[in-house]
Amino acid sequence: MSHNTKLELRIRQVGPWPMNSYALVCPITKQSVLIDPGADSKALLEILSDTQPVGLLVTHTHPDHIGALDEMQTKLNVPVMAHPGSHYEGMKLDANRWLNHNDTVHIGNYALQVYYTPGHIDDMICFAIEKDNRIIVGDTIFAGGPGKTWSTAGFQTTLQTMRNIILAWPDDTVCYPGHGPHFRLGDKRAAIELFLAKGHGDFFGDATWEM
Ligand SMILES: [Zn+2]
Ligand SMILES: [Zn+2]
Repeated sequence: MSHNTKLELRIRQVGPWPMNSYALVCPITKQSVLIDPGADSKALLEILSDTQPVGLLVTHTHPDHIGALDEMQTKLNVPVMAHPGSHYEGMKLDANRWLNHNDTVHIGNYALQVYYTPGHIDDMICFAIEKDNRIIVGDTIFAGGPGKTWSTAGFQTTLQTMRNIILAWPDDTVCYPGHGPHFRLGDKRAAIELFLAKGHGDFFGDATWEM
């Protein structure tokens, strides 16, 4: 299968501390998925306009990413898909489909590949657009550093995720995070490698590549 056009990516910042909700739309069939319905169902319906939603995807269960999930499920009546790992503080999430590493999600003539990227939280996943350089990374990684951690074990898991998953992606990968601007992975690779080469002791919390 060859495509002249790419899967369309629509971005909307929602919520009190702006979180990026993403809609991915097949330009041929107009099927779409919504990733991280954080808040503001009206804005979320707007970025889905002129499309046929087929799924609500969750990168992880922090409240800023799923605040409008129940409302959007009621409005759209499409399957909720998320990772089965431990959810945020006992949050009960009734996914219709549990996604694991390497699973595929279809959107019209296109597909997403799931990457399991724990550390920031145990149920963290990324969605890579197949045959494309764009990856929706949630709070796995930001332009300035990895996602926040709340324990030394969580931070150590983040380091493993950076080494085993993130750095294995090609330089021309463009990461679309849950907060802030998207960035090209190759522009951060040297800083990430330096960061991983340091000891960091029993650190956890907000990290930057430069620390
Ligand atoms: Zn988060
Ligand atoms: Zn977040």
